Amino acid sequence: MRNFSFLPNKIREFTIKFYGNTLGLNSRLKHFVVNNDGRCTNCKLNEMGPVYPEETMDHFFWSCNTMANYRVKFLEKCFPELNAYLVVPLNQKGLWYYGCLPENENKNQFITVSLTVFKYVVWRAKLFKRKRGFNSIFMAWVDQMQSIIAAGHALIGEKNKLTYAICRNWDRIGYGRDT
Ligand SMILES: [Zn+2]
Repeated sequence: MRNFSFLPNKIREFTIKFYGNTLGLNSRLKHFVVNNDGRCTNCKLNEMGPVYPEETMDHFFWSCNTMANYRVKFLEKCFPELNAYLVVPLNQKGLWYYGCLPENENKNQFITVSLTVFKYVVWRAKLFKRKRGFNSIFMAWVDQMQSIIAAGHALIGEKNKLTYAICRNWDRIGYGRDT
């Protein structure tokens, strides 16, 4: 994700930290912050105990039940065409982390931004320690995407190159009418 100058500062900062692996995950903060036991915020909020896993990068963004639940719903809604493809964990991970699509692992800026912003929205909810359902996360993602698209018109061109539901149905999804 280079030269994404149209992204709001907070999302750009998140992107840099995400790919540089320097986000303030609890597994890191516990060394510096009193009363931080290093455990996953979302697992605690959703009472996924009895033992709460460490909030590592891989846990928070991939294996955490809360994130997995959001991710599965998001992918089903936005990429139903890829259901069979995404059953393979490596494929799903490639799309989720790097925006890799089936055809020659081509990347598309609209898709890459969409996935980054979705992860950002979940991260932000964690920072505020808010327990949120998928629909609330999804609507927050729509809000962010709308303002990003308004500022980065090139994304519309990228969106129109592909026919996945997220691209095809954006006008409906983007205005919250696709529930
Ligand atoms: Zn967790």
